[in-house]
Amino acid sequence: MRDFFHPGELVAVLTAQPLDRLLDYRAPEGGCFPGAFVEVPLGPRRVLGVVWGPGKGDYDLSRIRGVTRVLDAPPMREEMQEFLTRAGAYTLTPMTQMLRLATRAPGLGDTPAMRRVYRLGQGAPDRMTDARARVLEVLRDYAGLSFTQRELAEQAGVTPSVIKGLVKQGAVVEEDSPRDLPFPPLDPDHGGKTLTPAQAQGADQLRARITAGGYGTTLLRGVTGSGKTEVYLEAVAECLRRGRQALVLLPEIALTQEFVARVQARFGARPAEWHSGVTMTDRRRIWKMVAQGGAELVVGARSALFLPYRDLGLIVVDEEHDNSYKQEEGVLYNARDMAVLRAAICGAQVVLASATPSLESWANAESGKYDKLVLEDRFGDSVLPDMRAIDMRAEKLPGDRWVSPTLQAAVRARIAAGEQALLFINRRGYAPVTICRACGHQIGCDQCDARMVEHRFLKRLVCHQCGETKPMPEACPACHAEGRLAPVGPGVERLSEEAQALFPDARVATLSSDMFASARALKEQIAAIAAGEADIIIGTQLVAKGHNFPLLTLVGVIDADLGLQGSDLRAAERTFQLMRQVAGRAGRAERRGVAMLQTFQPEHPVIRAILAGDEEGFWRAEAAERAQAGVPPYGRMAGIIISSPDAQVAFDIGTHLARADGPLRRIGAQVYGPAPAPIARIRGRHRVRLLVKADKGVALQSALAAWVAQVRLPAQARLAVDIDPQSF
Ligand code: ADP
Ligand code: ZN
Repeated sequence: MRDFFHPGELVAVLTAQPLDRLLDYRAPEGGCFPGAFVEVPLGPRRVLGVVWGPGKGDYDLSRIRGVTRVLDAPPMREEMQEFLTRAGAYTLTPMTQMLRLATRAPGLGDTPAMRRVYRLGQGAPDRMTDARARVLEVLRDYAGLSFTQRELAEQAGVTPSVIKGLVKQGAVVEEDSPRDLPFPPLDPDHGGKTLTPAQAQGADQLRARITAGGYGTTLLRGVTGSGKTEVYLEAVAECLRRGRQALVLLPEIALTQEFVARVQARFGARPAEWHSGVTMTDRRRIWKMVAQGGAELVVGARSALFLPYRDLGLIVVDEEHDNSYKQEEGVLYNARDMAVLRAAICGAQVVLASATPSLESWANAESGKYDKLVLEDRFGDSVLPDMRAIDMRAEKLPGDRWVSPTLQAAVRARIAAGEQALLFINRRGYAPVTICRACGHQIGCDQCDARMVEHRFLKRLVCHQCGETKPMPEACPACHAEGRLAPVGPGVERLSEEAQALFPDARVATLSSDMFASARALKEQIAAIAAGEADIIIGTQLVAKGHNFPLLTLVGVIDADLGLQGSDLRAAERTFQLMRQVAGRAGRAERRGVAMLQTFQPEHPVIRAILAGDEEGFWRAEAAERAQAGVPPYGRMAGIIISSPDAQVAFDIGTHLARADGPLRRIGAQVYGPAPAPIARIRGRHRVRLLVKADKGVALQSALAAWVAQVRLPAQARLAVDIDPQSF
C-alpha cells in the first residue's frame, strides 16, 4: 500500500509547466494518494499536476496553497513515475517535459458523459460531391475510431453542414455514445494459423518467457515474409491469456490499418490505436481505458510507450531498426531503448522484430544481453532473390538517363513474362537540384541551408528539411535570366518519366509518399499493384516496407551508392538494411526474384556484403569498425545542439562550452566541435553541435548535466542534449 496524504499535509506536485522543480501544496480536504492527478493554483491560473511525493516544506510555509481538487482520473502508478524519472534522467529531460509526454489526452479529469458521435450509415447520398466523399472516406478509413462533429469536419476538411446533409440522407448516422467505453475483448484463441515447425518453436520460446514472467528482451530476426508477425502475435495471445496488456509499436502510421486488420483476423476484434491520426476524444478514451484495463492491446506510434498501462506484459517493437523510432524534436528519445527501460521497470517482455536489426540490437543479442530468435526461411516456397551488381562504369548511358541498358533488358524480359519490375530510388520529387544554366545558382530554401527539391506532381519546390514550399520561379532568383532553370539529378518522378519513355506500352505506377492525398488513395494504389494492374513500379523508401506484391520478380536499385556518401558512421548500416529490404520485395511468392544494384563501386565492402547476402559477415565487420572507433554500441556518445537566430551567438556558446570541459574530462570524455549541426539551419534558427564521446560504463549523464549547467543562455538561444545521436 502506498502512503496516504491526509488533508493539509504537505505534498510535492509535478506540473507540466516550464519550471524545473516540484512545487509544494497542502493536500486537499479528503486527502490524496501519491500519483493522484490534481488541479493546483499557480499564480492566477489553475494547472494540471501529479502528486509526486511528500512535500519538502523548505520555504515560507504560510505561503503554501492548497490543492484545488483531485481529478476523477486513475492515479499515476508508481512504476510510471519511475519510468518518467529514469527516462528523464537518461535523456536529460526536465521532469515537467516528461509529464507532458504522459498526459497527452485532454479532459483527463472530466466526468464521463454521453457525447454525440458519427459513423457510416446504410443510406446513399442523392448526389456525391468531393466534400461528401471525403467525409465517407474518413469514416471508412478509421472505422474503429469515433468522431465528434467538429473532429470529423476537421479530418475531412469540410464544414459541419456537409455532415448534417449526409445525416439527413442516412449516409452518416448520428448517435449518442457513452464516453470512455471499454474496447471489445480480444479472443487469444480466435484465428491462429498453423505455424511451420520453425515458427512454432519461436512462438514456444516467446510463450515460455511470458509464462515465466519478469523482464527479458528477445531479438526476433527473420527475412521479410518469414512469419515474424505471426510469431509475435502468439506472444501477444499468451499475454492476453494471462490478463496482461500488450503494446505493438509500428514505425509508421501508414502500416497501421493493414496491421489492425490482421489483429482483427487473429483476435476477432480491433485493438486500441494510438498515433497522430487519433482524435482528441478518442485519446481521452484510450488513455482511460489503458489505465483501467479496458484496452488489452494497443497498436501505435512511439508515444504509446507513455500511456498509463495498468499491467503491461509485452512490448513488441516491429522493424526495430527503423530510424523513425528516434524522436528528433522535443524530448529526444529512442522508442526502442525506452521500450526496454519501461519493460525492465514493469516486469514485461520485449520483442524486437526485424529482418535487418540495428547494430546495437545485434550486438546485444551476440553478447547474450538479449535472447536470440531467428526464423531462417520465408513462409511458403519463396526464396531470397538472386543478388547482382550492375557496374555502371561499363554501361553506356547519356548524362540525364539513369536506367542502364543491362537493367532495361532485364525489365523488358520481366514484362514480356507477365511479371512486374520495381525500380527503386530513395529520393522523392522530380530532381534533387534546380540550377540556373546562366549563372550556376542553385535554388535553396530561405529558412534552411538545404536545396529545394522540385516536385512536378505538386507543381512546387519543396524543402525536405523543414517542409517549406514555393512555386517554381520563371526567372533565376540570382541573375534574373528567364527560362534557364534546369533540373539536375534523378528523383522518383523523373525516373518515372524515363521509364515511361523507355517502355511506352508498359503501365507505370509510381509510389512516393507525397503523391497521395490520403492514406486511402495510397492503399488503393498498393492494392491495384498487388492485383497486377501495373508492369513497372517506381518507388521510394515507401515500397521497402511491408507490402506484398506477388507478381514482382525484379528489383532494380537505381543508385545503390547513394547512402554510402557522406561521413555518417551509420551510413553503411543503413544502406545494408535498405538494400536488403528492397531486394526482399522480389519473389515473395512461388517465383524466384532477382535484385540488380546499379553501382559505381561494386568492390565496396558494403556492396559486396549485400551481394553475398552475408549478414553475419557484414555485422561482424561493422562491429569491429565501431569498436575500433569507440563509438556506439562500444562507446557512448551525446550531441549538444545549440540553436539561435544568430549564427555567431550559437557558435560562441558552443566554443565557450567546448573550453569549459572540466566535468567531462573528469570522466575521461572528449568534446569535438562546435561544428554546424547535421541540420545546420532550420526555420530560421542556426544550429551548431558539439559531440561528446565517452567510454562505456562512465556516468555520462551526470557529467553532461554539470557541464551544460555552466552556460547561461541568452534569451533567444536554446540548448538540447541528444543522447545516442542517430548520426555522428
Ligand atoms: P514477416 O513479419 O516476417 O514479414 P509475416 O508474419 O507477415 O512475416 O508473414 C508473411 C505472410 O505469410 C503473411 O501474409 C502471413 O499471413 C503469411 N504466413 C506466415 N506464416 C504463416 C503460416 N504459418 N500459415 C499461414 N500463413 C502464414
Ligand atoms: Zn527549408
